[in-house]
Amino acid sequence: MRFGYFDDARREYVITRPDTPLPWINYLGSSSFFTLLSNTAGGYAFYKDARLRRITRYRYNNLPLDSDGFHFYIKENDVVWNPGWQPVQTALDEYECRHGLGRSMIRGKKNGLSASQEMFVPTEDPILLTRLTLKNEGAEEKTFDVFSFIEFCLWDAMDDASNFQRNLSTGEVEVEGRTIFHKTEYRERRDHYAFSWCSEEAEDFDTSRESFMGVYGTPARPEAVAEGRCKNSIAHGWQPVAARRLRISLKPGEEKSLLYLLGYAEVEEEKKFVSPGVINKTEAYRLIDKYGTDESFERAKQKLAGFWEELLSRLRVKSGEEAADRMANIWNQYQCMVTFNLSRSASYFESGMGRGMGFRDSCQDLLGFVHMIPERARERILDIAATQREDGSAYHQYQPLTKKGNSDIGSGFNDDPLWLIAGVSAYLRETGDYSVLKEIVPFDNNPETAASLMEHLSRSLHYTMNNIGPHGLPLIGRADWNDCLNLNCFSRSPGESFQTTGPDEGPVAESVFIAGMFVKYAGEYADICSHIGHPEEAKEARKAAADMEEIILKHGWDGEWFLRAYDAEGGKVGSSDCEEGKIFIEPQGMCVMAGVGINGGEAEKALASVGKHLETPYGIVLLQPAYTSYRLNLGEISSYPPGYKENAGIFCHNNPWIVLAETVLGHGERAFSLYKKTCPAYLEEISEIHRTEPYCYCQMVAGKDAAKPGEGKNSWLTGTAAWTMTALTQGIFGLIPTLDGLKLDPCIPAEWDGFTADRLYRGGKYHITVENPQHVEKGIKEVLVNGQRLTGSLLPLLKENEEAIVRVIMG
Ligand code: BGC
Repeated sequence: MRFGYFDDARREYVITRPDTPLPWINYLGSSSFFTLLSNTAGGYAFYKDARLRRITRYRYNNLPLDSDGFHFYIKENDVVWNPGWQPVQTALDEYECRHGLGRSMIRGKKNGLSASQEMFVPTEDPILLTRLTLKNEGAEEKTFDVFSFIEFCLWDAMDDASNFQRNLSTGEVEVEGRTIFHKTEYRERRDHYAFSWCSEEAEDFDTSRESFMGVYGTPARPEAVAEGRCKNSIAHGWQPVAARRLRISLKPGEEKSLLYLLGYAEVEEEKKFVSPGVINKTEAYRLIDKYGTDESFERAKQKLAGFWEELLSRLRVKSGEEAADRMANIWNQYQCMVTFNLSRSASYFESGMGRGMGFRDSCQDLLGFVHMIPERARERILDIAATQREDGSAYHQYQPLTKKGNSDIGSGFNDDPLWLIAGVSAYLRETGDYSVLKEIVPFDNNPETAASLMEHLSRSLHYTMNNIGPHGLPLIGRADWNDCLNLNCFSRSPGESFQTTGPDEGPVAESVFIAGMFVKYAGEYADICSHIGHPEEAKEARKAAADMEEIILKHGWDGEWFLRAYDAEGGKVGSSDCEEGKIFIEPQGMCVMAGVGINGGEAEKALASVGKHLETPYGIVLLQPAYTSYRLNLGEISSYPPGYKENAGIFCHNNPWIVLAETVLGHGERAFSLYKKTCPAYLEEISEIHRTEPYCYCQMVAGKDAAKPGEGKNSWLTGTAAWTMTALTQGIFGLIPTLDGLKLDPCIPAEWDGFTADRLYRGGKYHITVENPQHVEKGIKEVLVNGQRLTGSLLPLLKENEEAIVRVIMG
């Protein structure tokens, strides 16, 4: 069952009923000011860091569901309704929500009055713009009240949600003209405030939640709305809000637009106050002047549209597979931008308080994003590398605001360092900008330890080489990619963190997954070394990769598939000898992507075993059989009920590894059919089962052992976005950036006649047509560039703005 439809021409998903199976959200904002917005106008805003600079309050995991946000209440006579249905839930005569790229429009209609709420964050300023357009579509004149309401968060979202003994006394506001300023803690150490402005003079307003909602009021029935007026309250402590009432009259056919701005401003220390206790509002007024008219709203909206138009013009495919095309051209790229911006910090499932930027997560996010804004990818690489430690290990997470490694969780996740090579390699293959390798970057943010980025990569590689276990495989440490496979943890106390309990260096537990990663990324490292004229280092890395491949085949092969790991006692994990957890997805994907076992047939066998033991109608589960009891030697993975999360859930992130692995072996049919299984646009029809948004990936879909197989969870912030983008565009469509240029190597279903692609690459534009007259899955017979036959399939580099017509004949 569907709850809407894709409008590809406008690059929107149109939701046609408000009661979606879960709130379906969108992300507004592209660099510093972000807003999460659901299809019923729930959500919250923050500046840069969802924990440390939260602007509006959101209560997670609460009832009523998703009732904090950016709601308007319209009261005509005694009928109260919201354009987005929530929180009052008055049945609407019409409803539609259009989630587009960085903007959303929610429209409701009741008794002949229509209200559309358009929202976005402009490309260059920290401000959320909302335009409410009201239209009298009835035959009589209408007079009604429009109440707006947002609730401020007292900046640090964690403290805001826990430290009430302090923070119920700190709240402060100022009201000046039509602007409400939220200035809690500005009197002391903060140099920032938020403000809310409306284009019309309000009849009355409230800045105290209690005045607007009533002590025992609810968002579904605010006291002010029931009474028909606000009380001009000034918040002292408790909960500062910005609420207003406007009284509007519209003749039949008449329309009126109202603008609401929610901004963030920083002030230099010396200029904080204009008089004792009175804040300096210059920056707020500058932003209000800039965005406070219909024309400026339109202009900023066009600019945002242009921003996305340009970004998406860099990579476009047309295969005739409507859903795959729309993912490749619109939604998958969009999600890559969101994951790049926010890593795993703020979604409807990530509270923004728990984790900052993940080291491995952000490195992988680069893979799907780097072609869009390479300059930002470059900056990110340098930020991430600065949290690496001198021995090559890495802080597992860092806070986006401070860019410092998070010492609560520390390091010891032994796959982390290798992902830095993956991210940098992707950047170099896309841009050819080798200057980045010479950038001087500190270790652990300590300038005294600074060394070139190339040195950081070398330390990453050597970290694995220096941390080898009894079989010659890499030690796993706290965990590898699978944060929940904790082989050195042994936690017995409830509530203990599986990630930080136990020694961070177990000298025995080893990971075959990291071994596969090592083969892959030591290879990419060696390519970089060769390219910059370091042949000795290249040779050393290639030798280490070849040795590791041998070790994998000797100690990491189980007969029909790759083993997952050895535990702290040297026992096998992910082996046919095991009672449960006999086969895991991760090493099958990573080892085959790395090319391990291609010659000896192990790769083919491993993928066949994935098909036989792990594949389900909704995707590939992480392991089988699921663990049915808690295992002290395995940690968090066995803490989940069977079928959920890492315990045999369909962890979408590693499904594209199998897709890529299939393309390595030339199985185009198989690759595409697996791609479709987790691809949200193909699941639109079963939204009542899948539940999460049909336009973005979720982290996890319940596996076959779960009570409700196919049920998605944790949408938006997942490495799935970057890896499916890679699997689809590089594995299947075969548009592969290499250090030497763009290489073509499609791997598609045999029945496809071909496809076309436009790819902006290193300043030049390739218009590619792939023909498949013999209906093969892989293999190129001929490539013509501007009519000239090419040897091989590496396209010549183009000059800035040069275009080339490329014709590829498979066969
Ligand atoms: C984390 C990833 C991890 C994955 C598998 C995600 O929640 O963000 O870093 O690789 O879980 O455990």
